[in-house]
Amino acid sequence: MNADLERLIALQLRDLEGKRLREELADAPRRVTAAELALRKAEASVTEAEASLKKEEVLRRSQENDVRDRRGKIVRLQKQMETATSAAQITALENEIRFAEAAITTLEDEELASMERTETTEAALLTAQAARSAASATLTTRRERAAEVLEDDTAAFEVVEAARAEIRAATDEALLSQYDRVAKSKGTGVSEGVDQKCSACQMLVRPQRWNDMKDRANANAVYTCESCGRYLYWDPRHDAPVRWKPGDMGAQRT
Ligand SMILES: [Zn+2]
Repeated sequence: MNADLERLIALQLRDLEGKRLREELADAPRRVTAAELALRKAEASVTEAEASLKKEEVLRRSQENDVRDRRGKIVRLQKQMETATSAAQITALENEIRFAEAAITTLEDEELASMERTETTEAALLTAQAARSAASATLTTRRERAAEVLEDDTAAFEVVEAARAEIRAATDEALLSQYDRVAKSKGTGVSEGVDQKCSACQMLVRPQRWNDMKDRANANAVYTCESCGRYLYWDPRHDAPVRWKPGDMGAQRT
């Protein structure tokens, strides 16, 4: 195989690895931010449930005071009845007592409703607290992972960049600039020919061209895919009886 083409295959592996490392380096802090947001939301739900419980408690205390006041009032009205002199006075007092009793019934119903709301909110609080614990654990894990990624990937990226620079310096400039142009627009600049097809764009290679590529006499020639413009290479181990996976040859070049 053409030595420059071999270098481009090796370069592409580094390029893809560098891209993967850059994406991982960018993604880790984004995952931390998302976890922080989830934790803040969970904390807000807990705070909201707690505030709602407190509000119901205050409401019930005021309802209980109200009921106590009205009971006291009824006792006073009953005392006044004992000393009432006219029928009109008695009727007026009776009306007032009935009014106070009706108010007490309403207050007690409202108190029951408040207790039911409290029960529902207490369940919601437990759920929110569990969600908060889970979100907090996730955040811890992601922060640790982000620190690992930052350390490992930064070091790995430096190695990849050094290897890239070395390969680029050794590669023919014309081939390199064509590779850069195609890689920039299509993501990769070299493709393996498999089963008479470009493995990147899946287009068929014309039979004559495919035979030329496989011909030992053309071992030093550089072919490109007529469809996508990527450099095309063929792995001679295709003819070997052992089974292999596409890309296997390239992987061995690292
Ligand atoms: Zn192609």
